[in-house]
Amino acid sequence: MRLIFLGPPGAGKGTQAARVCRHFGLMHIATGDILRRAATQETEVGRKVKALMDAGDLVPDEITNEVVAGAIALPEAAKGFVLDGYPRNMFQSAALELSLGEIGARLDKVLRFMVKGDELVARMAGRRICPKDGEVYHITARPPKVVGICDTDGTPLVQREDDSEQAVRHRLQVYGEKTKPLIDFYGKMGLVVDLDAMGTADDVFDRIIAALASA
Ligand code: ADP
Ligand code: AMP
Repeated sequence: MRLIFLGPPGAGKGTQAARVCRHFGLMHIATGDILRRAATQETEVGRKVKALMDAGDLVPDEITNEVVAGAIALPEAAKGFVLDGYPRNMFQSAALELSLGEIGARLDKVLRFMVKGDELVARMAGRRICPKDGEVYHITARPPKVVGICDTDGTPLVQREDDSEQAVRHRLQVYGEKTKPLIDFYGKMGLVVDLDAMGTADDVFDRIIAALASA
């Protein structure tokens, strides 16, 4: 199964992609996670990526396209994958079509995460991540066992730089301008499935399983 999780920042794509991949044995390809790791490198590219991410801008297409083309060709992706956070603009969706063609694969579905604006802001404001293993928590919806500490490795949790009020506003604008048009693009291909992504993470997961079983 080859899926794209498409939706605004904070919609719960990463949370659900991790669960869906565990459930079906798929590869989770989260460009944001890959780039966050790249941004910790003390190199020219690392510093450039970090500056763009912190401001809520997209990193250059050449970088993300190469990362994804490499990932989907890996043996771990042979059973299928979830693309989480990619593609994010029309150039990336065109590049993905080419990369899929090269490995003789095609997409099965594009799940469109639908969440109300104020809920998106609340999800991002309460998001905390473990800087070591990337695990994602939420101060109320998914709190760690000990406040501020990662359950698995004891590392103090941090807030993402791009979850600041200013960067969130900018990311929502970038989503509207560059990523949202992809709904139309994949809609014309008959791939889009609308997903009500409000409610608890368990509710959303159940809806995803149902959506993947039908349609
Ligand atoms: P995205 O990958 O779309 O940016 P995340 O999966 O990182 O979104 O989720 C954003 C924040 O919202 C995280 O703190 C996560 O724990 C929390 N979250 C995810 N799903 C839900 C949900 N259904 N209800 C409330 N909070 C959620
Ligand atoms: P995410 O973790 O999906 O919220 O992504 C965090 C940030 O990583 C984005 O705001 C961008 O700066 C960068 N990023 C992630 N995926 C992409 C992509 N496909 N294209 C460009 N930038 C990306």
